[in-house]
Amino acid sequence: MSNKTLPMTERLYDYLLSVSLREPEVLRRLREETSRDEHAQMQIAPEQGQFMALLAELLGARRALEIGVYTGYSALWVARALPADGRLIACDVNEVWTATARRYWEEAGVAHKIDLRLAPAAKTLDGLLGDGEAGTFDFIFIDADKEHYERYYEQSLRLLRPGGLIAIDNVLWDGRVAEPEADDAETEAIRSLNQKLLGDERITLSLVPVADGLTLALKRRAPSPSGGGRGLSADGADRRRRDL
Ligand code: SAM
Ligand code: CA
Repeated sequence: MSNKTLPMTERLYDYLLSVSLREPEVLRRLREETSRDEHAQMQIAPEQGQFMALLAELLGARRALEIGVYTGYSALWVARALPADGRLIACDVNEVWTATARRYWEEAGVAHKIDLRLAPAAKTLDGLLGDGEAGTFDFIFIDADKEHYERYYEQSLRLLRPGGLIAIDNVLWDGRVAEPEADDAETEAIRSLNQKLLGDERITLSLVPVADGLTLALKRRAPSPSGGGRGLSADGADRRRRDL
């Protein structure tokens, strides 16, 4: 028994997958096709996709946003978890990779739920904010260029409804975040965001050591002006005390 997260040996990983992974056939084929691409390591792990779909279901998500699509594997997991009239806005800049994504989204019957925006994500997110869509998203997945993570996080927090969830990928960055000699721009950007989130009172935080590390940031409901905490006004608290 251990009260620390277990080191993941190959044998234990295979076991974990064998007793929990329910990867639909179309997702398995997309993963296999992508595995032949030289950038295949950019794709999330299957158990992570399944976990994110569970989170979307748990949130009752109808409106989702993805920043970094690649060949569409994570988007497909999330889109499948949305209701028939749900929407996933998917941001990327690469036409070739997202052509594969579109093909599989069609095949899986979820293309009508996904709105692919081919433009720098920061611009797309500013556009959504400019169109009055702040506070309207239930679930946001950040998985694009790491140097812009902090900007995506701030924009996402505005786009999210209170009680909505941001998931941020690669926060353990293959272990480099904990290596003092690693000082490249991507590692520094991830480290700096991790540190910032630790002290960010706007969110409830958990860093889940699945795959390359997935941070979950739940947007807190604004505290009442009277500082009643837990969303209860001072007035309400008084009333409850009187009722006791
Ligand atoms: N979530 C995907 C999956 O699980 O299959 C993997 C995404 S991959 C790690 C990162 C993606 O971000 C690439 O497809 C890349 O084209 C895209 N990207 C890089 N810079 C971007 C930017 N400025 N705006 C939008 N997308 C960007
Ligand atoms: Ca990733």
